[in-house]
Amino acid sequence: MYYRRCEHYDDKSGRCYNHDFKPASWRYRKNSGGLLRICAKAQAYPSESFEYIALRSAYHLQSAHDFYLRSIGEPLPKMVLQVMPYFQTIFQDTYSFRYDNIIYYPHRKSLVILPRRPQSENLWDSPYVMAHEFAHHAQFALLAPHDDRIALRRYAAKSLPRRKQASLEAFYEGWADVYAFYATGENPSLITSYSCFGYNRDISNSHFHDQTFKHLTAAHLENFYHYQNPVVGSCSTPDFTDPHTVGAVLAHYLYKITNYVLAATHGELAAEQKYRHLQRWLRGAPTIDVSDDPLSDMIRHVYQVIHQHIVASERRDILPAVCAMFELGFPSANSCQMAVL
Ligand SMILES: [Zn+2]
Repeated sequence: MYYRRCEHYDDKSGRCYNHDFKPASWRYRKNSGGLLRICAKAQAYPSESFEYIALRSAYHLQSAHDFYLRSIGEPLPKMVLQVMPYFQTIFQDTYSFRYDNIIYYPHRKSLVILPRRPQSENLWDSPYVMAHEFAHHAQFALLAPHDDRIALRRYAAKSLPRRKQASLEAFYEGWADVYAFYATGENPSLITSYSCFGYNRDISNSHFHDQTFKHLTAAHLENFYHYQNPVVGSCSTPDFTDPHTVGAVLAHYLYKITNYVLAATHGELAAEQKYRHLQRWLRGAPTIDVSDDPLSDMIRHVYQVIHQHIVASERRDILPAVCAMFELGFPSANSCQMAVL
């Protein structure tokens, strides 16, 4: 089980701080049991047992991994899958528990499943959700050199400078959504079947669940950067303080633009080939950090890489249309102006 001791506890965000107001880290405590030895057949276990949950989620992770091998072809480091009943937080001798989440820890390369949710929302049994989590594993392995555990630990502890932290979180969430969509056959019903947040995260839809148009204005970004304690897990109304919401906008345009550009430059491509291009385009963006608006810097970087791809493919005629899509989705990033310079 993971637990953390809070000297100061922020009720609203659930974040814990040490006496010096640095984020308190989680510690692992193996207080009982050990490695489970289980049969390979999930059907051998009751559907709410930890064994069943571990086998089903591992099956979906394996499918997401197979897609990665088919599209990128390079091996990834091993991922640790942990299924456990709860996280425990200790504050002033009071214990609180977290039962229902799925969290990837990049510095440990571990995916933790806390399975308790309504039965209709078994996220660990969703090919889309598990492919999204697998994408975090792939993207961190891709971006971080093996010895860069400190940077990953700071990212996981949310202790990078606020704007950089927020930008990376949104970028990684958007990237993971596009990965999940490609890896599961570009099928929106795999995510819209989750009535609470599903429509917001359907990357093929230009609107959120409540019909709010997906785009990132300067006001959205300032709100996002300034909000110290995002309330993660918005449902029907998009919450622009949540990196998943900002990531959903990013994912929608990345998906739309990738499909449009590749159809024009390469014709009809399989999802694996589309993702291979997209990963190449996104790869350098998280290291871009030149202003106090890092997310816009990353978006401009992606525009420039795609711009180069279009020019090299001798399809300059589609530049105005691609430029218009970037301007529509990210009006404050001024991607096209930057590219002309
Ligand atoms: Zn995520």
